[in-house]
Amino acid sequence: MDWMNIELEAWAGEAKERVLRESIPARNRTGYIERGGRLLLNLSSNDYLGLAGHPAILEAMRDSLLHEAAGSGASRLVTGNGPSFSRLEEAVAQWQQSEAALVFANGYAANSGVISALVGRGDVVFSDRLNHASIVDGITLSRAEHARYRHNDMEHLHSLLTKYQGARRKLIVTDTVFSMDGDHALLRKLVQLKREHGAMLMVDEAHGSGIYGAHGEGLCHKMGLKHEVDVHMGTFSKAFGVYGAYVCGSRTLIRWLVNKARPLIYSTALPPVVLAGVYTALELVRTEAIRRVQLDEGSRLLRDALREAGFRVGSGDSPIIPVVIGDNDTALSFSSALEEEGIAAVAIRPPTVPEGTARIRFSVSAAHTAADLLDAAVRIRRVGLRMGVIVS
Ligand SMILES: *Cc1c(COP(=O)(O)O)cnc(C)c1O
Repeated sequence: MDWMNIELEAWAGEAKERVLRESIPARNRTGYIERGGRLLLNLSSNDYLGLAGHPAILEAMRDSLLHEAAGSGASRLVTGNGPSFSRLEEAVAQWQQSEAALVFANGYAANSGVISALVGRGDVVFSDRLNHASIVDGITLSRAEHARYRHNDMEHLHSLLTKYQGARRKLIVTDTVFSMDGDHALLRKLVQLKREHGAMLMVDEAHGSGIYGAHGEGLCHKMGLKHEVDVHMGTFSKAFGVYGAYVCGSRTLIRWLVNKARPLIYSTALPPVVLAGVYTALELVRTEAIRRVQLDEGSRLLRDALREAGFRVGSGDSPIIPVVIGDNDTALSFSSALEEEGIAAVAIRPPTVPEGTARIRFSVSAAHTAADLLDAAVRIRRVGLRMGVIVS
């Protein structure tokens, strides 16, 4: 096992080593965590709507535990498919205005399972270079050709589609909101290219679901493109504040996935308590539009304040606000300095993001008040000036 230490030293030498640190959700203070006994404003969470500690969700989960087992006991295709699945899937399909929906254990399982079920040898997947790792792994698993196009570069995608014209099946896959950059996919253009080239289109709404659309359906709905998408994936792990994922589409698609998606077939079904929490979270996501308004206001506020301070913040209007620093060491020091200032904002480094683009990825939650965010902006500016990332 010597090789492992040698490689780890090299990894650490490039300031790429990750360590697990304990974060405790602050009691009665959503949007904050405790670390080492200190209260920190949490600007690194994906709990966009502040639902993770919602009393109605917790109540539903408590109630489930009074009546249901701790675990589901088997895969859904064996005896693990309890009644909470169809109840949730019907609600999700209705919410998404889709024919059918299928729940997966998490977004990683959904992406890796769906992509490897849709394509195989002789097929081609066209995938944005900045797509999530679970998409990349799904493509690898599928053994299809991986045609990566430069981020949001539709000319490049077009030339790749032309190059692989003769492939058996073609699948274009994209995050709708890019997880580390916070910008949007060019969905209209993707729909046009998919039609022109006879490809399937799959979207990952992990950072769009709950946030965009009148009822939080996602960015595709907001743009009126819902019916142009063949495979619609989203998670319950982020804006929903719980855990799990869904895939929506035609009845045929869902029937196919039940037969072919290996993470669904060969893995134990989610525990009923999780499904109970998600079901209530969906009610809140659908009906409490005020959280989306608060989130939008907070995102604008922090983005504008950081831009005004001189930071190069990413484009877009999402709650994901990246401040690209460049090298790994500086990004790490920046993050430590922020923690000293009472802010949890993690440095995101390669291979999560491309080499030379280490960054602090700030993410806003509806749980944050304007005062929280304005105060944070002052502290972030102070650190930025001290470290020479911005100049006054
Ligand atoms: C987080 C994320 C996933 C994975 O979802 P989990 O439920 O956390 O496994 C998939 N895609 C994107 C774009 C994500 O950001």
